[in-house]
Amino acid sequence: MSIASQPALIDRFGRRINYVRLSVTDRCDLRCVYCMSEDMTFVPRSQLLTLEEMARVGRVFVQLGVSKIRLTGGEPLTRRNIVRLCEELGELEGLRDLTMTTNGTQLTTYAAALKQAGLTRLNISLDTLKPERFRQLTRMGDINKTLAGIDAALEQGFERIKLNAVVLKHRNHDEVLDLVEFAFNKGLDISFIEEMPLGAISEHSRAEAYYSSDEILRDLREYYDLQPIVAHTGGPSKYYAVAGSDRRVGFISPHSHNFCGDCNRVRVTAEGRLLLCLGQEHSVDLRRILRANPLDDEPLLQALQEAMQIKPFGHEFEVTQAKEQVVRYMNMTGG
Ligand code: SAM
Ligand code: SF4
Repeated sequence: MSIASQPALIDRFGRRINYVRLSVTDRCDLRCVYCMSEDMTFVPRSQLLTLEEMARVGRVFVQLGVSKIRLTGGEPLTRRNIVRLCEELGELEGLRDLTMTTNGTQLTTYAAALKQAGLTRLNISLDTLKPERFRQLTRMGDINKTLAGIDAALEQGFERIKLNAVVLKHRNHDEVLDLVEFAFNKGLDISFIEEMPLGAISEHSRAEAYYSSDEILRDLREYYDLQPIVAHTGGPSKYYAVAGSDRRVGFISPHSHNFCGDCNRVRVTAEGRLLLCLGQEHSVDLRRILRANPLDDEPLLQALQEAMQIKPFGHEFEVTQAKEQVVRYMNMTGG
């Protein structure tokens, strides 16, 4: 059997890659303190993949057995004509899940079109319920836009909407219970994320701001009976069910519970760089391959298969290190 006829991406450690996170832009209408520096230089637009190239990358991944694509960024809803890309991806046979991570500020405009285009699920980022704190954490944001965006998404009846909150000690760790109550009152799940050391930031020391998932769990357990869900979700989140309800709380804990062993995903940056691990620099330049072979998908398909040989086992994030360990900012990679 030729390499091209094997419809699966399997890495050196036997892990099957069936999930791709596609960053559609590195730009954003917010500047979250843990994600970006205040003064960001963005990639010139000419260096970004076109939406057609992104659709092509998505199509070839699906040919290789990928069943889930998450669009992310930067803020995906700031990319012009993003709905068109969603429509193209939404039509791919074999793609079970088309999802997006968004800060929600533009969902009042886009929620209906995204649902129509075939988006199944949404993750919406919300770290605080306090307007002034929201402005500080995002450096410029208006919480009312995100809250209205959440309501607009709820009206569309997506299969699932989940809130994501990055928790920082002394900046918002005192709000974890309020965030859970807010989510549950709206009928949403919520995941808490430990901050990852991506890119140099100046607002706080990442080591000092570390608030572990175990601490959050301890805080929440004073009010909720949280039972671990054993079923494996195929991702880095560990979920807990609230006894007597169908609501869930997730934890993404790169520091305290390394999740690499089950990794099922790769990422593509907005410039078309295939990143094999969020916390490492192993990568392949897909843009060059796409542009050198505008009418032939075979070289791209082969490159994706060969890339499995350089997927590292995992990241090496360490909470005690004050400095960033990966120079890339999260907005390059898309979380
Ligand atoms: N702009 C969209 C949003 O904020 O949802 C999508 C892109 S954002 C980079 C994706 C997710 O990464 C967000 O939930 C954000 O909170 C999270 N994130 C950003 N920087 C992070 C960091 N240094 N550590 C952990 N999570 C981070
Ligand atoms: Fe923008 Fe999302 Fe990064 Fe915040 S976390 S600056 S919303 S890309």
